[in-house]
Amino acid sequence: MKEAIVIGGGISGICCAVKLAEAGVMVKIIAPYPSERSQSVMAAGGINGVLLRHDQGDSVDCHIEDTLKGGSYLAGKEAVTGLCSHAEEIIQYLEKIGTVFSVDNEGALVKRAFGGQSFKRTCFCGASTGKQIVSALVMEARRFEVLGLIERQFFTFFHSALIRDGKCYGALVYDEKLEKIKAMYADALVMATGGQNSLFGKTTGSTQCDGYAAGQLFLQGVQLKNLEFIQYHPTTLETCQKKMLISEAVRGEGGRLFYIENGKRIYFMEEKYGPKGNLMTRDVVSREIDEIDKAGKEVFLDISFIGEKEIRRRIPEVSDLCLKYRGIDISRVPIPVAPSVHFFMGGLAVHLNHETNIRNLFAVGECASIYHGANRLGGNSLLAAMHSGMVAAKEIADRDFDQENIDFSAEEAKENIRLQKMKDTKSQFPVMYIRDMLADTMRQDLGIVRNEQAMKKGLSDLDYYLSICDRLSFDSSVSMYTNYSLKSILTLAKATLLCALHRNESRGAHFRSDYPDSDEAFSFATIISNDGGQVNIRMDKEHIYEI
Ligand SMILES: Cc1cc2nc3c(=O)[nH]c(=O)nc-3n(C[C@H](O)[C@H](O)[C@H](O)COP(=O)(O)OP(=O)(O)OC[C@H]3O[C@@H](n4cnc5c(N)ncnc54)[C@H](O)[C@@H]3O)c2cc1C
Repeated sequence: MKEAIVIGGGISGICCAVKLAEAGVMVKIIAPYPSERSQSVMAAGGINGVLLRHDQGDSVDCHIEDTLKGGSYLAGKEAVTGLCSHAEEIIQYLEKIGTVFSVDNEGALVKRAFGGQSFKRTCFCGASTGKQIVSALVMEARRFEVLGLIERQFFTFFHSALIRDGKCYGALVYDEKLEKIKAMYADALVMATGGQNSLFGKTTGSTQCDGYAAGQLFLQGVQLKNLEFIQYHPTTLETCQKKMLISEAVRGEGGRLFYIENGKRIYFMEEKYGPKGNLMTRDVVSREIDEIDKAGKEVFLDISFIGEKEIRRRIPEVSDLCLKYRGIDISRVPIPVAPSVHFFMGGLAVHLNHETNIRNLFAVGECASIYHGANRLGGNSLLAAMHSGMVAAKEIADRDFDQENIDFSAEEAKENIRLQKMKDTKSQFPVMYIRDMLADTMRQDLGIVRNEQAMKKGLSDLDYYLSICDRLSFDSSVSMYTNYSLKSILTLAKATLLCALHRNESRGAHFRSDYPDSDEAFSFATIISNDGGQVNIRMDKEHIYEI
């Protein structure tokens, strides 16, 4: 019987596991926490899909074009066509397994407008789309658990992939309860570890998504793509723990951005871009707000004019979180907003079948880079998480594996000794101090607007952190995982800065004040590889990494 390991229990990982189990593949899901605590549950806005039964005027072709255009034509057309054409089937599947989408009086799915889309095509489940999808998928996973086809292991972290001669044989994982690394073998390894939020400290996302897996795999020779494209969400609300997302749904429901000058409201997006200005793509809105912010003015988002009743009906979650975390009643006063890191278009480079450059090693969901080009449209990442999980599962289920019997117990023993030794190290800085410094560096030197000088300074800071990270004292206030993950996280940060420095132009979410225009020479994806310690960056002329 075929066996697969899925690392990560968000929507992409659990969807992949369910589809593998449906095809008779035995799956182990490895994650620190249950799916109900993955970042996927935070998604409130919705999932995109053209439903041919209902959506008059809209078409799959239009969804494809909006996605390609939103991504500044860096995503491959074949990949995006696959994604958008699959959307209706995915939404039907989600309904079938128990996802309760919001419907109108005739029972048709209600759609909302998201930035960069020509039609309302975002389906949603009240204020809890991500939660609903995760619950439905978890129920499916439980069915297969009973049949012995799925096993879920929590409190377990990815350590490294078992790779020999360009082929993957499974993974080393760290079991937090046993405090031990163990080797797990499988025909296929699927990475579903989400984005890289922790590189930037406080973001809208989960701290579980720290980029460790991508950094570690890069060190092991896996190619990464488009790392410089980091999406800032234009409207977030500062709280002490994180940057709370003020969903694009607020602007979709008519919310207006403004700042105050001489006692007068300036609706800057509408003034510059016309009546649809508030719903421009996220990169454009973020840059406009960033500029106003740098001029020392605060930006607000006003939705109060639709009235308390409509606010409660259409965006109750936003109303609740503003009241709960900041005591702001949005039916009376506007929301103070600022951009924050939200989504990563870059990640592990994958072929159309979601396999990386290492045979039998796959990547799905936000940790894979394929569909969003230079900028992602809201509502497309839940779709991509589902679609990619299904594509990888089909590929694995259909493939004849020819794995040799390779024993990795020496690697397992070596890593266990190394972790034990870490506990005895002494130095000036604890790990969390460097993590904070890293976040400061990334926010300052790789912000919404970048330039060569700042990025070079960031690189030199990172080189310093990397030079000391093997000698840091063990930080007993955080987990062993947090301690051992530092080097790979720093490596990923360095790779990200190198890609951003390499792209001497502005495109999508990557804006360079020293190169403010787009340049044809860079109208390709960036691929960064680590060939035995030598880092190479190339522009991928085929637009995407396809076979
Ligand atoms: C606030 C917010 C709102 C959003 N709203 C929307 C929306 O409305 N529509 C939309 O399309 N998109 C939205 N997104 C984006 C979307 O939610 C994510 O892109 C998507 O859910 C990612 O799913 P995933 O399966 O790839 O990863 P995740 O859900 O992030 O899951 C990653 C999994 O990997 C595990 N993991 C991480 N590191 C390790 C490790 N080292 N070892 C083992 N396991 C590990 C985690 O614990 C977790 O289980 C939103 C994002 C945020 C932050």
